[in-house]
Amino acid sequence: MSEQLTHERVLGHPARLRLNRLPDCLGGPAEEATKGDWTYVEFLDRLLGAEIAARAERDAAMKTKLAHFPFVKTPEQFDFAYQPSVGERQVKELATLRFVAEAENLLILGPPGTGKTHLAIALGVRAISQGVSVYFVTVSDLLEMLRRDAKEDRLAHRLQALCRPKLLILDEMGSFPPDRLAAQFLFQPVSRRYEQASLIVTSNTSYGDWGDVLADPVLASAILDRLLHHSTTLNIRGQSYRLREKKKAGVFHDLTEPKEE
Ligand code: ADP
Ligand code: MG
Repeated sequence: MSEQLTHERVLGHPARLRLNRLPDCLGGPAEEATKGDWTYVEFLDRLLGAEIAARAERDAAMKTKLAHFPFVKTPEQFDFAYQPSVGERQVKELATLRFVAEAENLLILGPPGTGKTHLAIALGVRAISQGVSVYFVTVSDLLEMLRRDAKEDRLAHRLQALCRPKLLILDEMGSFPPDRLAAQFLFQPVSRRYEQASLIVTSNTSYGDWGDVLADPVLASAILDRLLHHSTTLNIRGQSYRLREKKKAGVFHDLTEPKEE
């Protein structure tokens, strides 16, 4: 009877301590501990380890949802042989996330289909696995959002929210019609995050052309200045990965790459 009560209490305590995974894990390790002659410390280590792993998994699932990635990719899924201008060692170094710890920025430039968004997301996914909060948005969606917020008098609130994630990914910089307001809107999150939290910006236009699309050379250079001050640039020069399958199927052969295959 008293053993029964102890068992009930042991199952009740985790709920009070919000150790939600622990009751599920109790049975297996308890049996293994008896069979395997574990020490009490080993048993406790195993139980608490399972609780911590479950929490980390839940946290990553929540952060992934909040990040709004359009798709999920990892650095391992990137084919470096196909894109030799991207150094595998450099991506591995970026995947250590030192740049996020130091609130530095990463700019990924290159033609369409060369894996800019893939790499940005892959680093975002890696960041989440390290407990870092991430938010992904295309620059045109962000501008749309900020424009709406400005009309509805919610701009301050949005700008504050954009400062919260430790890593903000701005995808497709420059892929929108030239707009003077864009520079004013973009300057805010970039300058507020400057030296405080990291940005990854992808673009298929070179820095020199950002002035044209932002239609305000002074603000464009103020934005670039802050983005580039503590930053790394990955310059991808190569063929679109999207065309690879099509090329294999024989479409595009002469048009895009006369010398190959
Ligand atoms: P970009 O953002 O440069 O236009 P994406 O990152 O969207 O290109 O890549 C287009 C598609 O091709 C995605 O599905 C991406 O995962 C894939 N892809 C691009 N480059 C590579 C690569 N080197 N290895 C594996 N997949 C790649
Ligand atoms: Mg892209």
